Amino acid sequence: MIRAENLTKRYGRHVAIDRLNFTIEKGEILGFLGPNGAGKSTTMNIITGYLSATDGRVLVDGLDVLEHPQEVKQKIGYLPELPPLYPDMTVIDYLKFVAELKRVARADVTRDIARIMDVVQIEDVARRLIKNLSKGYRQRVGFAQALIGNPEILILDEPTIGLDPKQIIEIRSLIKSLRQDHTIVLSSHILPEVNAVCERVLIINRGKIVASDTVENLSKGLTGGNRLSLRIDGSASKIESALKKIDGVTAVDTSASPEKGAVDVILEADANRDVRRDVFNVMSNGGYPILLMRPVDLTLEDIFLQVTKSETEVEA
Ligand code: ADP
Ligand code: MG
Repeated sequence: MIRAENLTKRYGRHVAIDRLNFTIEKGEILGFLGPNGAGKSTTMNIITGYLSATDGRVLVDGLDVLEHPQEVKQKIGYLPELPPLYPDMTVIDYLKFVAELKRVARADVTRDIARIMDVVQIEDVARRLIKNLSKGYRQRVGFAQALIGNPEILILDEPTIGLDPKQIIEIRSLIKSLRQDHTIVLSSHILPEVNAVCERVLIINRGKIVASDTVENLSKGLTGGNRLSLRIDGSASKIESALKKIDGVTAVDTSASPEKGAVDVILEADANRDVRRDVFNVMSNGGYPILLMRPVDLTLEDIFLQVTKSETEVEA
C-alpha cells in the first residue's frame, strides 16, 4: 500500500534520512520508533506529500506522491506533530472548513462530520472555540481533521505527545478502534506506546532503519539477552555463588523474594546457550529447590537500546 524507495532528505549538508526502504501493507498498524531527531517527522511529511524528498520516492497504491499529490492526499489522513488547528474557530466550523478543503461532496458533509465527531467523542465541545479546549480535546479535533474524507491510511505523528496518562489511554483506544478499517502508521519516541498499539515496528536511528519486524520476532532475533528468571528456596549468597560457577553463565542478580525463605534470581547466559539443565542439576545437588524458572523476554526497550547501540558502534 505504501512503498518507500531509497528515500533521502538532506537539509543543506545535514542528512535527515538516508536511503530508507520499507513497505507498509494494507490493514497494517506500523510503529515508527526512534529517538528525537531520528527522522520520523521528516519521513511522514514526505509520505503525505508535505515535503519533497531529496532523492528516492514514495508510492501510495502504486502512485508516486509527487506526481499525483491530489489523489494521494485523498487516500491519507494526516495528524502532524502540531495539528493544523485554527484557535478562533469553533470545532464544528473548523471541521466543515477541512471538509471543504478535502472536497468532501456537499451532500455528505453534515453526516460525515457527525459520524467522525462520534468516533472521536467531541460532540459535547462541537460549538466551543478551539482555543478554549484542553490539550486532550484539541488532539481529538486533530484526529477528526485527519478522518475527514474517510481516508484509508492514517499517518499519526506522535499522537499522544504532551497528553496526561488518562488522555493517553483514551487516544490509544481510539487508535485501536480505528485499525479495523484503516492502515495506520504511528510515530513515537516512547517505547510502551508502540508496544501497546502496533503489530510491526520499524526502528529508525539517525535517519537510518536499524530494525524492522514484529515485536515478537525482534525479541527472538536479538537473543543477546539470554536471560532466565528464577525463584529458588535457600540462602541468596550460596545460591548466587553456585549459579555463577555454571559454564556459560555471565551474570547473576539476586533479590528478596515475596516467598519466605526463597530468593528471586535473574540469570544471564551466553547467547544461544541453554543453561536450564545445568541450573537444575546444580541447584538440585546443592539442595536448593527451584520453585520457578522461565525465560525473560527482551522488552522493546532492550531491543531499542541494542539496535541503536550497535549502530553507534558501527559508526565509531
Ligand atoms: P524526529 O521527528 O524523529 O524527531 P525530524 O524528522 O524532525 O526527527 O528531524 C530529523 C533531523 O532533521 C533532525 O536532525 C532535525 O534537526 C533535522 N531537521 C528537521 N527539519 C529540518 C529543517 N527544516 N531544516 C534543517 N534541519 C531539519
Ligand atoms: Mg518528530
